[in-house]
Amino acid sequence: MSKMEVKTSLLDNMIGLGDMVLLEPLTEESFIENLRKRFDHSEIYTYIGSVVISINPYRSLPIYTPDKVEEYRNRNFYELSPHIYALADEAYRSLRDQDKDQCILITGESGAGKTEASKLVMSYVAAVCGKGAEVNQVKEQLLQSNPVLEAFGNAKTVRNDNSSRFGKYMDVEFDFKGDPLGGVISNYLLEKSRVVKQPRGERNFHIFYQLLSGASEDMLKKLKLERDFSKYNYLSLDSATVTGVDDAASFRTVRNAMQIVGFMDDETQSVLELVGAVLKLGNIEFKPESRVNDMDESRVKDKNELKEICELLGIEQSVLERAFSFRTVEAKQEKVSTTLNVAQAYYARDALAKNLYSRLFTWLVNRINESIKAQTKKRKKVMGVLDIYGFEIFEENSFEQFIINYCNEKLQQIFIELTLREEQEEYIREGIEWTHIEYFNNSVICDLIENNTNGIMAMLDEECLRPGTVTDSTFLEKLNQICADHQHFESRMSKSSKFLNDHSLPHNCFRIQHYAGKVLYHVEGFMDKNNDLLYRDLSQAMWKANHSLIKSLFPDGNPAKINLKRPPTAGSQFKTSVATLMKNLQTKNPNYIRCIKPNDQKASHIFTDSLVCHQVRYLGLMENVRVRRAGYAFRQPYEACLERYKMLCKQTWPHWRGQARDGVEVLLKDLQIPAEEYSYGRSKIFIRNPRTLFSLEEQRKRR
Ligand code: ADP
Ligand code: MG
Repeated sequence: MSKMEVKTSLLDNMIGLGDMVLLEPLTEESFIENLRKRFDHSEIYTYIGSVVISINPYRSLPIYTPDKVEEYRNRNFYELSPHIYALADEAYRSLRDQDKDQCILITGESGAGKTEASKLVMSYVAAVCGKGAEVNQVKEQLLQSNPVLEAFGNAKTVRNDNSSRFGKYMDVEFDFKGDPLGGVISNYLLEKSRVVKQPRGERNFHIFYQLLSGASEDMLKKLKLERDFSKYNYLSLDSATVTGVDDAASFRTVRNAMQIVGFMDDETQSVLELVGAVLKLGNIEFKPESRVNDMDESRVKDKNELKEICELLGIEQSVLERAFSFRTVEAKQEKVSTTLNVAQAYYARDALAKNLYSRLFTWLVNRINESIKAQTKKRKKVMGVLDIYGFEIFEENSFEQFIINYCNEKLQQIFIELTLREEQEEYIREGIEWTHIEYFNNSVICDLIENNTNGIMAMLDEECLRPGTVTDSTFLEKLNQICADHQHFESRMSKSSKFLNDHSLPHNCFRIQHYAGKVLYHVEGFMDKNNDLLYRDLSQAMWKANHSLIKSLFPDGNPAKINLKRPPTAGSQFKTSVATLMKNLQTKNPNYIRCIKPNDQKASHIFTDSLVCHQVRYLGLMENVRVRRAGYAFRQPYEACLERYKMLCKQTWPHWRGQARDGVEVLLKDLQIPAEEYSYGRSKIFIRNPRTLFSLEEQRKRR
């Protein structure tokens, strides 16, 4: 088979079309039917042009072997049947040979296979790039950063036994030859509320269970821990073990990975001490102590746990105990101490546990970066891999979903922008006239959320900073005033009372019409989560710790550096990091992997149409196909086209002796294909309608 030939599997309707761009007629039904047909034939990958759709098979398929790597290595994208390796190969070669920085953008809902996809891309690239001991060490460190981050950042959820609870972007850097030099990881918004509370049927982060199951008796004793999960309030009991997961074995894997990445033994020890301390914090309980003036003042119930935590962390017991009973508010020259009641003490305890853990996580990412960063100042070629939470619509959506969906809005925006740009660039390269493409521009929704003066995030920040009684309800009232007329915003109290009778819209909610669908947000907790406050007494107590890791995590606890200015809110921090990410992605050549979850049972062989349909909609895949074939559905280098269809014409068969372009011209004229159906580019023939291609295929079969 000629190298440039269109592989029949792209056009083979028995197992479904390999490229959705060729689908005729194009409807949502035919789109899903095609996915299903392929899925039933164990073909989990399908293209939309250069975009890869991936459906989670929920079983291990024999398609990731070293032989497969060889098969896809240095081959053209369309030569072989669709595969994530084809995308990885294309991206890597374009980086190496054409010096174009790449990014791989992986989206999809929880459990759709994003993290697996990112690992497949990384391992493919690792397999084909560079050789030699030094290079191998770099590769190994890059790959081993994964188990470490997964242990601390992943958890079992209802949707996925190994669900990433943080967003991750990793730049892998290469030298001019395409050998790996190192990498940089950025993390986004760890779901830290999980540390203190997990939804039914879900677990805390893996590391807690791994530590308790895998640590030696000796280590447990040092960390003052017990092996029994049920001893810890922060570990939910209804799903403490996960079928098919060996926490003890994972613990060994993680420790080994930490060693490879370059953690010193004492660093690992410090990290585990911190993990243990977080777990033990959950066991501190409070009781009320009545005072003369009838105020409930909180006291630590059983001092033993407190004592052990303080020993572990090198904190004076009285300091931490005081921080759990009082709150000091400093304003200008004044210091006012108020006592905490029991509820406030629990709130403070949980805030401390969440803060400790999320700061530890950020520290881990920085520590890994220190190890894997490239040891050269020379110019580098970069491949970025983004594995980030997809669009979320739950029954109850809160601040987290709001933030995540905002991020997806931004990604959609960049997707449309870059896809159009890529199309346009190819047209210009090939000298084909550009046709205007109509599409839905979601910037109006991004603006509703992120606008600096009257966007929802700005309003939330404003409310968080406003003195006086502010609550989630006053925040909602504010939204109602300012956003009421926005076409993508709805709430019960909108000035236009059109929603007053809409009972699907409760009073404590607002609804945003996202590009992917309507989402109802409950405002409860928005202010608190956005504020993300830790009482200063606690950060100061942590800073006083005689434990270098903890001390370093709480620079804000240094009394000499007291800053009366509030730290940026969670929302505005996220907004800033998303803006940085978008800027970074803009400069790179994008490659898309769109992951789809075929069923809700985490089961193999089950393809639930309605579920897939829903995802196809909010991933905007139909729109994607439309954009791809708005002008010309299909394009192919002249040589490849001639090679495949020369048998259809006497003048070109068996050999055409001139230029391939002229041969194709003779061929198409001879077949009487209407001239408006195609255009001649510099190196490729552009075909407007998939039907034209199919008629060529038909004629080919009839010969
Ligand atoms: P996401 O990151 O999108 O939430 P994951 O990548 O963690 O989802 O995938 C969830 C689970 O699905 C994995 O733990 C694995 O069991 C299975 N899975 C995903 N992709 C594949 C694949 N390509 N082949 C086999 N199993 C897969
Ligand atoms: Mg994941």
